Amino acid sequence: MSAPALYLEKIERSYDQAGLPLEILRGADFSLWAGQSVALIAPSGAGKSTLLHIAGLLEKPDAGEVYVAGLGTTHLADDARTALRRSEIGFVYQFHHLLPEFSALENIMLPQMIGGYSRREAKDRAMQLLDYLGLAARGKHRPAELSGGEQQRVAIARAVANGPGLLLADEPTGNLDPKTANHVFEALDAIVRATGLATLIATHNMELAGRMDRRVTLRDGLLVELA
Ligand code: ADP
Repeated sequence: MSAPALYLEKIERSYDQAGLPLEILRGADFSLWAGQSVALIAPSGAGKSTLLHIAGLLEKPDAGEVYVAGLGTTHLADDARTALRRSEIGFVYQFHHLLPEFSALENIMLPQMIGGYSRREAKDRAMQLLDYLGLAARGKHRPAELSGGEQQRVAIARAVANGPGLLLADEPTGNLDPKTANHVFEALDAIVRATGLATLIATHNMELAGRMDRRVTLRDGLLVELA
């Protein structure tokens, strides 16, 4: 059997606050398999972003190991970590973070071209993704010309453009009204089902969380499965 897309082993992370250590993660374990979608539900300040940043190789834990596609990462050199992050991990934030001076299509092409794909390949794939997300007519539009829901769908397309095995999202529908949130969630869900991606999504939206395969929370610095 292949390795989990993401395996967190005894992850510890604390921050220094006014000279005192604030322990956020205290030995958190977690496995996420290809094709699975998991909701991370916890109050603000519990450590959801910290956990996602560590899983996404954007931040290092104080102790423990992060395995991505079976590969231990804490001892990798910075360039190898960056290469692994670019090829294996997609990240979606609450705010879209699209580049304002580029079109939707170009925003989806850029990570592919950085990853070594030709302009033609990157464009073909970007157009396929836009089409799949119901945005074929929006390719030439800049982010400011798109609605909030469209911006988030483009951000999702950009996150999966390099065919990662793992998609991490930090409250991706947090800024959207319920109907738009539902639409964006369905786009995300469709991509996950079509590609066999593994996805971990921090959300406060219990209805959307209820439609995912598993739900977990952070309790006393550990990840705990919810019913
Ligand atoms: P969540 O995403 O669940 O709201 P975060 O992971 O953002 O939680 O933050 C968890 C806790 O860690 C919060 O109390 C926050 O203030 C603190 N924290 C986060 N980042 C830092 C940092 N760089 N330095 C100090 N404290 C931090």
